[in-house]
Amino acid sequence: MELVCFLCPNGCSLAVTSKELNISVSGNQCKRGQEFAIQEVTCPQRVFTTTVRVAGGVFPLASVRSREMVPKAEFPHLLAALNALCLEAPVESGQIMLPDAAENQVITTMSVPAIPG
Ligand code: SF4
Repeated sequence: MELVCFLCPNGCSLAVTSKELNISVSGNQCKRGQEFAIQEVTCPQRVFTTTVRVAGGVFPLASVRSREMVPKAEFPHLLAALNALCLEAPVESGQIMLPDAAENQVITTMSVPAIPG
C-alpha cells in the first residue's frame, strides 16, 4: 500500500506492507511517519467537519468540527447525530455540540448572529 504522510509539509511517500500482524513502513523521514502509517492501516482518523442547521440566524448553517481526530468509522454516527440538531441563533464560535460525546466532542467554528428585529 502506498500512502502520503500529511503530518508535515515534507509529504513523504510511504510504502506499507503488512504480513499478519507485522506492519513495515519505509519512505518515512521520521518516526511520526511510521506511527501515522500504522494508524492509517489499523484505524484511520481525521478531523471531522460538517455543518449544522441554524434557526433564526443570518446564516442557515454553522460550520462545525471535531476537537480531536476521530476514527473514520465514527463519521456516520456523528453525521446522523448532527443532522438531527437545529441550533437556535445566536450561535457562538466554539459552542459544544453533542455534550455527551466526550471522546468525539464537536464544536462550532463560526458565529451566527440572530436575524435583527
Ligand atoms: S514522515 Fe515525518 S518528515 Fe515525512 S511527512 Fe511524515 S512527519 Fe513529515
